[in-house]
Formats: sequence, C-alpha cells, structure tokens
Amino acid sequence: MIYDAIIIGAGTGGMICAAKLALNGNRVLLIEKANHIGGTSYVFKRGGYAFPMGPLSYSFPQRVRDFLEEIGIKKEMGLKRNHFQLITPFLDIIYSQQFESLESELQKAFPEEKGIPVFFAELKKIIADIDDLYLWHPSYMGGGSKKRALARMDAAILKKMQRIEKYARIPSGRILEKYLKDPVLKNLLGSQGSEMPAMSLLNLAIMWNVMCFKGIWFPSWGIHGIHDAIKDVALKHGAEIMLNTPVKEICIENGSVKGVRTAIGEVYESNWVISNADYKKTFMELIHPQDIPEERFLSRIKAVPYTQSEICVYLGIDPKKVDWHRMKSTHLFYRKRLEPKEKTDFESFDDREFEICLWSDNAPGLVPPEKAALILRAGFEYTHFAHFRKGEKVRVSGYKEYKLQMADKLIKTAESILPGLRSAIDIMEVATPLTYRDWGQRYDGSIAGWTWLVKDSQEERLLLETPIENLLMVGMYAASELFLGGFATAMHTGSLASDIVLAQSDSRSR
Ligand SMILES: Cc1cc2nc3c(=O)[nH]c(=O)nc-3n(C[C@H](O)[C@H](O)[C@H](O)COP(=O)(O)OP(=O)(O)OC[C@H]3O[C@@H](n4cnc5c(N)ncnc54)[C@H](O)[C@@H]3O)c2cc1C
Repeated sequence: MIYDAIIIGAGTGGMICAAKLALNGNRVLLIEKANHIGGTSYVFKRGGYAFPMGPLSYSFPQRVRDFLEEIGIKKEMGLKRNHFQLITPFLDIIYSQQFESLESELQKAFPEEKGIPVFFAELKKIIADIDDLYLWHPSYMGGGSKKRALARMDAAILKKMQRIEKYARIPSGRILEKYLKDPVLKNLLGSQGSEMPAMSLLNLAIMWNVMCFKGIWFPSWGIHGIHDAIKDVALKHGAEIMLNTPVKEICIENGSVKGVRTAIGEVYESNWVISNADYKKTFMELIHPQDIPEERFLSRIKAVPYTQSEICVYLGIDPKKVDWHRMKSTHLFYRKRLEPKEKTDFESFDDREFEICLWSDNAPGLVPPEKAALILRAGFEYTHFAHFRKGEKVRVSGYKEYKLQMADKLIKTAESILPGLRSAIDIMEVATPLTYRDWGQRYDGSIAGWTWLVKDSQEERLLLETPIENLLMVGMYAASELFLGGFATAMHTGSLASDIVLAQSDSRSR
C-alpha cells in the first residue's frame, strides 16, 4: 500500500500533522523511534513521581486551543498561569507581570535610569507589530494560507514586514545600550536573566510578549495529556502509529520522496514524507547527500548552530524539610554570584544562572501525596559530555559518577536559596546533553532550536518546505524563531504542513 503521508516522529508537530491529515481522509503512517508518543513533551516515571522530559508549561494557550479545536478536540481544559522570578546578588524580581507594573517596579529599583519608559514604549511598539504575525505575515505561513496572505498584501502590511526584517537584524543590545546604563538592568531586560543580551530585537520582543502579555501556562490535562487526546483523534480516523521504529533513511528518487526505510530494512511507500526530526538529523543522517539537489543548502544546514543543551536534575522531595521563603513563583532563575571566584570552573554552578522549577505546583497529581517535585536546569554545552558517549545510549565508564557529581554541585548551589533541600531528597534522576541526544533525539542535545544569535539568524522564518519534492519539516526546528513559544510553534508548523498536503490533494481532485 502507498500511504498518502508518512510522518517521522510523534512529537508535537508530527502528532498534530498526523491527526489533521487523517481527519481529512488521508492514509497516514506515523513512525516513532521511541517507545512513546509526545517526543520531548513526555513524562517519565521514577518511584511514584512523574517528571517532564521537556516542556514545563507553554505560551499562547488560545492558539493551542485553536489547533486542538481544528482537529475536533473541544473538551474543556483548565489553565494555570506560571510565574517567573529572578534572583541574583543585585536583584529579586518576579518579571512575568503586566508590563506597566514591571516598568514601575524597575523604575523604583533603578531611579537613576531615565530611559526605562522610552525602552518600554519602544518594546511595546515592536510587540504590537509582532503579536499576531502568524495571522498575516506570509513568511510565517505555508500552503494556501501563504498564498492568501500574499494576495492580501498592501502597503501597510509591506511596511510592517519591513519593520520586522529590521528588528530581526538589530541586536537587542544596541537599543538597551542606547537607553539604559546599569548592566544588571540591561541584562534583565535583554535576556530575562543575568546574561548579556545576545539576541535580535525581534526575538527579544517575542520573549517579552510570551512572558508578560500572553503568559506561560500549564494545562489541566498535563502537556502529555494533550498528546494523548491528539493520538485518539489520529487513531479514530485511521492513522497507524508505529512505536519503537527508528527511520533510517528517507527514500528519494529523481528529487522526489518515495517513502522511508526503517532501521530493520522495512520500506514503506508514500506520496509525502513529513519529518519531525530536526533539520540537521533529517538532512545529515536520514538523506543520502547525493539526493540533496542543492549543495549550498546542505552546507548551510551543517554550518548553522543550534542552541546549547543542558544538565537537568529531577528531585522527588519532602517539601516540609525545605525553607521556601525566597522562592515566590513556580519558576525561579537563580544566580548566586555574577563573576567566577577564581579561574573559570565549568563545573561550578555558583557563577551561572540556572532554573529551579517547583514542577509539582503545576502537577500535584503527578507526585505521591504530601511530596513535591523540583527540577533544576542549567544550560550546558554538549561537547563537555561528548567524550562519555560510546554509541547510542552507550556510555564509557565514569559517566554515571560524573553526572552525579555535577548534580551534587547543582544541588549544593540551589541549597543556598532553598535551605534544607539536600536533606529533603527522596529520589533523584539526572539528564545530561547525552540524554537529550539519545532519548530526545535532538542533534547534539540542543534544547530550543536554531541559535538565537543575530549573526546566525535565518532569512526564512518557517522552514517547512525543502528542496526535495514532497518532503516537509514540522516541529520546533521547522521555525527559525519560536514566535509562539516552543510548544505552540511546533503545533503551528504541524498544522501548516498538513495544509500544504491537503491543498495539493484538493487541486489534484479538482
Ligand atoms: C529540556 C527541554 C525543555 C523544554 N521546555 C519547554 C517549555 O517549557 N515550553 C515549551 O513551549 N517548549 C519547551 N521545549 C521545547 C519542546 O520540545 C517543544 O515545545 C515541543 O515538545 C517540540 O515538539 P517537536 O514537534 O519539535 O518534536 P520533538 O519533541 O522534538 O519530537 C520529535 C520526535 O521525532 C522522533 N524522531 C526523531 N528522529 C526519528 C527517526 N529517525 N525515526 C523515528 N522517529 C524519530 C523523536 O523520537 C521524537 O519523538 C523544551 C524542550 C526541551 C528539550
């Protein structure tokens, strides 16, 4: 049998795409390497606790709702807003608040900074331009919606598009330098943390829009519950889902996809292949180089860096043993010291920012009664751990001891803000960049897609269509910016890819 579409990967983008295509009468095969659906939006169990592998919460909840309704999921879903706090030696602030109150709190904390109102006014103007760009900007659309947007184009839209291109090219540091003096303030407004601003003005506006205007939320079904609901739609409409089945190769003939070959050599034929694996994995591992028509395209994919990876410590704890008085929101970004004490020590967490998330705040039902779950996450380069990897899920000796040693250091630093933490621990699990590579199937364990550095930014906003006929990309990596946050952007790409397929089958049947 020839499928209408084969989707490689049951992550968020792949699932939405599969369900929408099946709902519209297509023969769909969804092939997933792992033994579960959901990709990184998945929960795993340890000793009575369920921990998230990836997302803790998401933004643009109404958009997520829209995508679910589009495939017929109308069941009521509660939402809990998550708040974000930053503590450094010079600042303790909840920054996920209304823009006006954030501005006035910062003005009180930094009375010398006369540029604060101008900075906020400029940022607000940019946010107004980008807030709903997925509804009108052709570069954030695909298939028929893109054609319709191009047809609707007028002088006002063209001007807005030009402004957006400009924001994408301007480093946010430039406007922060122009209006503000204090590095603590510039770093907060430029990175939502204590790091030097490094992203473009466009990405900065996207981040603040997500944080303060749209908010970041946790759904009552859990993020994994959303995937279960999407799976039910896909199965009800005849999609086949194969787990534990790695795709080894995308089969291509004369520049057009023909299907896929799995790791055990089975071939499945289809008219379309839609990859939810990231770009580098798809083009560098699943496609023979001679099948890629443009050498320049492959070189670009190879050269563009992704964002870095992280080390993550999952803790099941007795909350009564911890002093919580400094932690005032579900997510706390904490940096004990701004500068290293002596020489740079890569294994010390005292002078780097990391996230502490009280996960059980969101999901009390996912931990045993009277217990809590805490997650500590610190950005880390893949290369620091690479020498421990002997092969897929195979490590050289010493890896386990090393990651426990790193976890111990992270807990020690976290204890400065949460006294009693160590003695409260019931169980612990540790993920490293190697985990995100081998279990998350992400190239070099990358967490958040394409790099956000201005110098490496992509010209294209969406990377759905490829130089290979009938090969589409979906998921977080199919967008060069996370303009709806990670989760909703992955859904957006999945929905658009299905539109491209449906538009073509419509035009054929006419
Ligand atoms: C640690 C971490 C934290 C995150 N936190 C957040 C957050 O708080 N909020 C947020 O919105 N987003 C967050 N994200 C981003 C999050 O991953 C996305 O929101 C969303 O889950 C990504 O979905 P996706 O469609 O890109 O697919 P992915 O989750 O990347 O899934 C891709 C799927 O493809 C499968 N696959 C890959 N290669 C093959 C192959 N060869 N054969 C078969 N199957 C294959 C994989 O096994 C996987 O199941 C986080 C990500 C990580 C890693």
